[in-house]
Amino acid sequence: GRWGYGLAGELRQAAARSPERLAVVDDSGARLTYAGLLDRSSRLAGALPVAAGDRVGVLCRNSAAMVTVLIAATSIGADPVLVNTGLSAAQLSSVIDAQGLKVVVHDAEFAAALTGFAGALPLGRTAEMIDSVPPVTLAPPARPGRTIVLTSGTTGTPKGARRPTPAGFGPLCSIIDRIPLRAGVRLMIAAPLFHTWGYAGLQIALALRATVVLRRRFEPAAALTFMRENDCTALIAVPVMLQGLMELPAQHPRPALDIAAVSGSALPGGLATRFMDRYGDILYNLYGSTEASWASIATPADLRAAPGTAGRPPRGTTVAVLDAAGAPVPPGQTGRLFVGNEMLFEGYTNGSAREIRDGLLATGDLGHVDASGRVHVDGREDDMIVSGGENVFPSEVEGLLADLPEVRECAVIGVPDDEYGQRLAAYVVLRESASLDPDAIRTYVRRHRARFCVPRDIVFLASLPRNATGKVLKRELPH
Ligand code: ATP
Repeated sequence: GRWGYGLAGELRQAAARSPERLAVVDDSGARLTYAGLLDRSSRLAGALPVAAGDRVGVLCRNSAAMVTVLIAATSIGADPVLVNTGLSAAQLSSVIDAQGLKVVVHDAEFAAALTGFAGALPLGRTAEMIDSVPPVTLAPPARPGRTIVLTSGTTGTPKGARRPTPAGFGPLCSIIDRIPLRAGVRLMIAAPLFHTWGYAGLQIALALRATVVLRRRFEPAAALTFMRENDCTALIAVPVMLQGLMELPAQHPRPALDIAAVSGSALPGGLATRFMDRYGDILYNLYGSTEASWASIATPADLRAAPGTAGRPPRGTTVAVLDAAGAPVPPGQTGRLFVGNEMLFEGYTNGSAREIRDGLLATGDLGHVDASGRVHVDGREDDMIVSGGENVFPSEVEGLLADLPEVRECAVIGVPDDEYGQRLAAYVVLRESASLDPDAIRTYVRRHRARFCVPRDIVFLASLPRNATGKVLKRELPH
């Protein structure tokens, strides 16, 4: 198009319309206007040692400099490869090979993990590059690039998911139809920008000529202060961040938010309710994935009516619940969740595939649609526990345990059992100075659920292992 594609295209358009508006602010003190962001990303585009079609790794925590790099890469027609900051050095080096990366722009803290790789480019060095070249005017990128998002790779080498660049803002409009972010909003993106959700937030923000507020890490009290200082009215986060916010005392000063939107992992119903009781009915829950982009969105009204629901598919999106043979299952019944929309991923870079039926992508999740048409994600197909022939969704028991006032967080998995095939193991993190007897937990579960839902093993932990998007790493739980 006339403005070019993707982030670079959105930025050019925004800079033409609102050059003096603040585009991005971060906790290192950076403050860039739209004109400033265009100037810096254009200079960097000229200085980066990459060409159109190259892949540029980006291994950074959220910052204005990271945004500048992402836009610079897109401006050249290079494809950013968004690298999860949680990868090990070994995973990182296989990613560099597998994705054919010439350059990885990285935060200083990840330098050690890139030792020996000639293409390592510290983020600080990009600032020097920018300052050493004169202003340039770039032609719009001629090629709609791809963004390659790495899966978290809990088992082995992360796969690269090739994601299309939306041709203009059209496809993303279906999100703001449901989550009413307005032009010029001051928005904290706390979800990592290397994850589909944070990255989508950035695309939407540039298109809305928003002011994007970033911090390298999410520390609840500091995040609230920063949002207040920057007059944020909206927050893009992952559910575990809301949990962190709810651990602060109720009287802790907070910003006047009208929107808090979460995605990336399941939103526990109890957390949704408690959050809205404190912050108001401002919570939105988007169900999506790297491969599917988005499937459904719950509004505050949906979450009041059915806490924890993933809501309804937005305009242009189809969600289907199918049985093992591929036939639709009736409302209320659990099946495999499939999704169709115009932003489905294009495939993995290593050629491996995901199941597609009649244009709908298998999400890998099981779920159901309730009588009002709301989607409920019951859990991942891989995580379902079969104990004594009975199916148990970890989320069902997790939700129950999380409602105990003593419990800060918990995770439930199936562990091998000679007699039952699998039995339930619960990992429980208690609130400070709380105590709870394992038998009391079992009795409580038994009161609310069938016998096969009662965890036989109960392990108390100080914290749960989580990835950068706050998802519990179930394979890392000790058993
Ligand atoms: P991994 O695929 O290994 O979990 P990841 O966190 O990088 O890695 P994503 O593609 O972001 O991958 O994860 C998508 C999955 O997260 C969905 O398939 C679903 O299981 C879960 N999920 C995301 N959002 C929600 C939500 N709002 N409610 C319930 N589950 C969700």
